[in-house]
Amino acid sequence: MTRARDARWSGALGVLDEVRRAPGGTRAEAARRLGLGSGSATEITARLRALDLLDEVPAPAVGRGRPTTRLLPHPRGPLVAVVEVRYEGWRCAVSGIDGRPSTVLAGPRRHGTEPQVVGEIADALRDVKRRYGRRLRAVSVNAAGVVRDRRLVRPTTLGWEPTDLTAILPDESTPLVIGNDATLAGLAEARGGAGVGAGTVLYLTVEVGLGGVLVIDGVPAVGGSGAGGEYGHMPFGDRSRRCPCGARGCWDNEVDGRALARHLGVGQPDDPRAFAVQVLERAERGGDADAVAAVRRVADALACGVAGLVNAHDPDVVTLGGLAPLIRAAAQDDFDAAYLDGLMEFRRADPIPLRAASLGDDSALIGAAAAGLDVVLSEAGLDQWAADFERAAARG
Ligand SMILES: [Zn+2]
Repeated sequence: MTRARDARWSGALGVLDEVRRAPGGTRAEAARRLGLGSGSATEITARLRALDLLDEVPAPAVGRGRPTTRLLPHPRGPLVAVVEVRYEGWRCAVSGIDGRPSTVLAGPRRHGTEPQVVGEIADALRDVKRRYGRRLRAVSVNAAGVVRDRRLVRPTTLGWEPTDLTAILPDESTPLVIGNDATLAGLAEARGGAGVGAGTVLYLTVEVGLGGVLVIDGVPAVGGSGAGGEYGHMPFGDRSRRCPCGARGCWDNEVDGRALARHLGVGQPDDPRAFAVQVLERAERGGDADAVAAVRRVADALACGVAGLVNAHDPDVVTLGGLAPLIRAAAQDDFDAAYLDGLMEFRRADPIPLRAASLGDDSALIGAAAAGLDVVLSEAGLDQWAADFERAAARG
């Protein structure tokens, strides 16, 4: 996490980042990683404790080392509310600075009834605000759809019209962060999943269509208005086909359940993701030559595009989410051959590794918590927290 640090919070932001990275880790370890003397580390953690920003508990003594403490989120510390709006429904969770969201409420998606769902989420967030008061510092939304300028501009996978989500906020002063599900899942995988430790991580995921993000030093590259990373809408597909997005020849249409249905000569499935899972299982079991052939074509189309993006972005690692690792596993030889074949020659001797995502279904929720915490645990966010804290203390 690269951020400018001013004098007031110098050191403190680093310590808080360590608590985010490894909640429950020791103060000695944080000091070592940050290059702080033990006196400075003790002083910084004492200041953060006094502001309810973190908690310290004695750590069991190890060998003859000096006694240290474990650094944990403070029980009265800042929180972000995390909202997830997906095809299946919505859920609302709350996360402390350890970035581990726990769900507080969930509801079904209702096709074409976005005002009603927005109203339900607003009610849930009002409850969160009533319960936690000034501890609630930001609302972070993970949405299945294209996000631009903090609005959902293309929520077609939800069956919604473009939707302004500011109505969910419990009050005007709470910051709102909105991210696309693939962007947020990629952020989580880069910081704490399959891409951890790598500087430049390309995340690609297949659900219905394909999404992804390039994360550089922990920061997602989402472009000027936030709508970047729509890798599925690059023209790696059939140029005679018009994509539902409006562009021609999109890769999106070659790598998912819709493509498998076309290759199998059956009608378009109602639920392309479930259909894809079914065909992948048939191909893996063997004995179904049609399923195997269809999966091989999709694996080829997916792997060629991955190689093209590796040529373009030069990532240290590619993380594959959603159905992508399953497609690769079901036709591994075809996938790997197409990947190598698509790489520029100088890359082939030592190809960039492709790794399956490791955080599972909650990855985008975890990413949304991280994006919200980036706002809260910034210089401006901490200034605001300290001012509110001192005002509350003065009132007694
Ligand atoms: Zn498209």
